[in-house]
Amino acid sequence: MFATLSDRLADTFKSLKGKGRLSDADIDATAREIRIALLEADVALPVVKEFVGAVKERARGEEVSGALNPAQQVIKIVNEELVSILGGETRRLRYAKSGPTVILLAGLQGAGKTTLAAKLALWLKDQDKSPMLVACDLQRPNAVNQLQVNGERVGVPVFAPEPGNGVGDPVGVARASIEEARRRLHDVVIVDTAGRLGVDAELMRQASDIRDAVQPDEVLFVVDAMIGQDAVSTALAFQEGVGYDGVVLTKLDGDARGGAALSVASVTGKPVMFASAGEKMTDFDLFHPDRMASRILDMGDMLTLIEQAEKSFDQDQALKAAEKLAGTGDFTLDDFLGQMQQIRKLGSLSKIMGMLPGMGQFRDQLDNFDEREIDRIQAIIQSMTPGERDNPKLIDGSRRLRISRGSGTQVSDVNTLVDRFFEAKKMMQQMAKGGGMPGMPGMPG
Ligand code: GDP
Repeated sequence: MFATLSDRLADTFKSLKGKGRLSDADIDATAREIRIALLEADVALPVVKEFVGAVKERARGEEVSGALNPAQQVIKIVNEELVSILGGETRRLRYAKSGPTVILLAGLQGAGKTTLAAKLALWLKDQDKSPMLVACDLQRPNAVNQLQVNGERVGVPVFAPEPGNGVGDPVGVARASIEEARRRLHDVVIVDTAGRLGVDAELMRQASDIRDAVQPDEVLFVVDAMIGQDAVSTALAFQEGVGYDGVVLTKLDGDARGGAALSVASVTGKPVMFASAGEKMTDFDLFHPDRMASRILDMGDMLTLIEQAEKSFDQDQALKAAEKLAGTGDFTLDDFLGQMQQIRKLGSLSKIMGMLPGMGQFRDQLDNFDEREIDRIQAIIQSMTPGERDNPKLIDGSRRLRISRGSGTQVSDVNTLVDRFFEAKKMMQQMAKGGGMPGMPGMPG
């Protein structure tokens, strides 16, 4: 989402490369560039002013004398200031000391509240919680049904008014839901409230009434990152009308400029706690200001990548493959396919690659990467006999033709795959000997 901002900042830093020390004029020019980059990305003006002021002051200060070169110093300062406007430390959910933790969601219609409620429920389930969803958006036609559908998708029960009973009383429904949660031993209750197309007093009153009735542990304001500067004004209006503890940014996968969303934490003084970046239920996580900043600065996001890798990788399968390599070296095409599928579980390849440092320059190629490539590889390998998969050396010309027909691909595709397999095997054997991945310190080998 912040591709343009990333590119602009990268250009700015490039012009500092090779400089022995920065003159005041250099710093002014850099500050001007950063200011333009932020404004173009739609970051709110007061936030830009403060940001640029801080960078300038620090770049001029005595800090610039350490081990880093001037360009690195500036990147470091910009990084730290970005982390700071995004809210500093990662803010985690506070759970109630006794009884169910109550989370209230507020925001405009279309912000993505209902979707988010289910995503949050799934995320909580992954943290070994037992959440319950509550449908208090009784205004938007179909909102209750939508929550029920989403709840079913993530396997979380939804508390909703019986048809014809309590339909006009969201406060009553909210109150009753807490009792129900206690009875059914749910430890987290997520209350979805009604939104409107624009900010209005009635909407605020209803959300406040629900808040007073359920005494939430956390009120989260949900805002669509794609609505530009309106994100800031809406955030301020909800802060005044309802009040909240944290912000959730949705639709960060969009291609709008999105900088306004980056301003919300700074303008309201409330941290961004979660971010949602896609329509899939798993496209959701805690918001880490430091990781977001390094992603914007294209320093990569190794932490997120490693965390995701740990979550998705099948330890047993990886161990088996490693043992095979270390032992007899009989790494087969089945293992190769298994590894591809493991990688795919991490998410789309372009998304994964985008998290690696320095990948910004390949953004166009990544965007054009054909995810179906893995499907093709899978089809080819599955068209082979078990004997061929175990011993790919068997695969001669006539077998290649048969396999290409069976998988609906070209013989050249089969050739490429077999070549790649032997290359991968060679590389992995080297890695098994040397330990760890070449050129990637810190990555589990
Ligand atoms: P609500 O009115 O606040 O409850 O909003 P909804 O949950 O109904 O979401 C409005 C629309 O935004 C729906 O079409 C969702 O599928 C979509 N949406 C929600 N979150 C995201 C997201 O993170 N990325 C994208 N691309 N779309 C989203």
